[in-house]
Amino acid sequence: PGKQPEREVDSLCPYCGVGCQLTFQVSDNRILAVKGRDGPANHNRLCVKGRYGFDYVHSKERLTKPLIRRTDAPKERSLEVDPANPLTHFREASWEDALEVAAAGLARIRETTGPDALAGFGSAKGSNEEAYLFQKLVRTGFGTNNIDHCTRLCHASSVAALIEGIGSGAVTAPFYECENSDVIIVIGATPTVNHPVAATFIKNAVKRGATLIVIDPRGQGLTRHAHLHLQFRGGTDVALLNAMIHTIIAEGLSDPDYIARFTQDFDALKARVADYSPEKMAPLCGIPAEVLRRAARLYASAKAAMIFWGMGISQHTHGTDNARCLIALALLTGNIGKPGAGLHPLRGQNNVQGASDAGLIPMFLPDYRSVDDNAVRALFEAAWGRPIDPQKGLTVVEIMDAAHRGAIRGMYIMGENPAMSDPDQTHVRQALATLDHLVVQEIFLTETAAFADVILPATSFLEKDGSFTNTNRQVQIGRQAIEPPGEARQDWWIIQELARRLGLDWAYAHPRDAFEEMRQLMPSIRGISWQRLEREGSVTYPCEAADDPGQEVIFGDGFPTASGRARFVPTDIRPPDELPDGDYPFILTTGRILEHWHTGAMTRRATVLDAIEPEPFCHLSPDDMGKAGILPGETIRVRTRRGAIELKARLDRDVSSGTLFIPFCYAEAAANFLTNPALDPDGKIPELKFCAARLERT
Ligand code: SF4
Repeated sequence: PGKQPEREVDSLCPYCGVGCQLTFQVSDNRILAVKGRDGPANHNRLCVKGRYGFDYVHSKERLTKPLIRRTDAPKERSLEVDPANPLTHFREASWEDALEVAAAGLARIRETTGPDALAGFGSAKGSNEEAYLFQKLVRTGFGTNNIDHCTRLCHASSVAALIEGIGSGAVTAPFYECENSDVIIVIGATPTVNHPVAATFIKNAVKRGATLIVIDPRGQGLTRHAHLHLQFRGGTDVALLNAMIHTIIAEGLSDPDYIARFTQDFDALKARVADYSPEKMAPLCGIPAEVLRRAARLYASAKAAMIFWGMGISQHTHGTDNARCLIALALLTGNIGKPGAGLHPLRGQNNVQGASDAGLIPMFLPDYRSVDDNAVRALFEAAWGRPIDPQKGLTVVEIMDAAHRGAIRGMYIMGENPAMSDPDQTHVRQALATLDHLVVQEIFLTETAAFADVILPATSFLEKDGSFTNTNRQVQIGRQAIEPPGEARQDWWIIQELARRLGLDWAYAHPRDAFEEMRQLMPSIRGISWQRLEREGSVTYPCEAADDPGQEVIFGDGFPTASGRARFVPTDIRPPDELPDGDYPFILTTGRILEHWHTGAMTRRATVLDAIEPEPFCHLSPDDMGKAGILPGETIRVRTRRGAIELKARLDRDVSSGTLFIPFCYAEAAANFLTNPALDPDGKIPELKFCAARLERT
């Protein structure tokens, strides 16, 4: 207390996709405090994670030396460790030895079983340059497109619908454009928890006079600012949204000039939704017909309206259909490409937008150019000097399934924790234990790293330079504030050392070299140089030339599709994969809480955040607690067809009767032992927001 910092370093918050700019105050290679800066996305504001979520970097549990698995350590018992000696299954090694063993194992599988027996998971927490280098290594060094990251669990379905409908997977306007909206819809998102600083812009817009419609099966922080809250029955999104589309068309509230000028396939949409009257849909979604009509009229009569959505829309087996409906609402009413209007899927991780842009996904090379397009591949093959597999690779859940059945034999995982984040953990952990060779690059011995053959100690966000792209398409620089502990090394350096040992002649000297290569290959960021980022602090893409200011609101004069028009894609109701029944009468839904980030690897080691929310709990409605005779704080067991966990009950008036909500950040009661791996057929995203569960007394 009272200690003056030796220096201040301007950087970013590493948590959510808002991309708040901040300043680290540093002394003796330690973070003393954090201050918000006047960045375009935060105007000096920070949430509790941004302000207090940093001392994980100083944790005694940081990995500081390369580790190689002991030959007598059984993989199936990887998570059975003595808490006093958690590294018991590993021996310390030199970097040279660890890199040799890591690369030799991957090369052996490539040569004997073939490139498609390998896969890589990169990370949306890494920089643009790390994402780019990682996917380049997997594509050209491994020889496969089996490369993915947690966007697959996040907005993969939204991106599939957006690319299909409007030709681009990113937001059409930054979130602060809601300052110019007169109607705002927030659906399947909880910004006060997951994007708290973005939520302040929405609240300010309401204070200024905008009408807020919250559509969510759970109550939430924005509900008390909303003019209308549609607390609909979980999993009935398409019924609800098609009823709104039906109303807009039937009541003549659409914008015929916009539809004629900028869209196609309107007649197909009109014919499909004819049968989706609010009166028919009301019993399904649990919202009175008149309220559905009111929401549709409010949205359609706005001069400018924005739609924000999150995982409540995307994490369903019908997630792509849900997003198709939201796109149709915006196109019907011309609410796209003008001030105060737009479609904004709120991005979760701080760099999930940039990692996807950089090609860390199996079907697209950088800038969303398809790997099965010969001309696209030829361009990247010429730049990279290596052939690229013409087949699209497998996605996250497909890779784990392939590992489980023995088709994937080796993996390289950088900064992802599938042994906590992926659905059906019993299956995932068996898959990880089955691999012949697993290389994990991490800052902690995560649940995934515990299964590794080689662990490469990496750097935290605060120990490296890199560019990151937030939910608004703003590219910004995160700067190194402190030195890494022990022998931990920068991630780009580790990727390059592995690449060299796998036969690639890379010679990057700094992340800026990788960024310069990226912008030569990615028209969307061609006008953004590293020097410009240093100078301007934040540049929005598309930005095609050095004097291009970047475009915040896009698609005012057409769409980047083959026809230049956006497409309506009609949808029909498809129920969730697993409905409640007599044995499993509850709906289980999972998500984040304000204080803890994703699988908890960082925030559960941040002292203040863990002190606020130290233990796992299951949220229940007062009604369900009363019926079951359960008291708040009582330990209960939640079971699904895939497993059971024990945790405490918490009374939550925002949860509907018949629904359970469990945060997925607690390893001691990992919610993903319960979740359903069934996939959306288009986005390949698992249905993390809906499965059947039952409550048991312990
Ligand atoms: Fe960090 Fe997001 Fe909070 Fe901003 S809103 S401080 S980026 S977690």
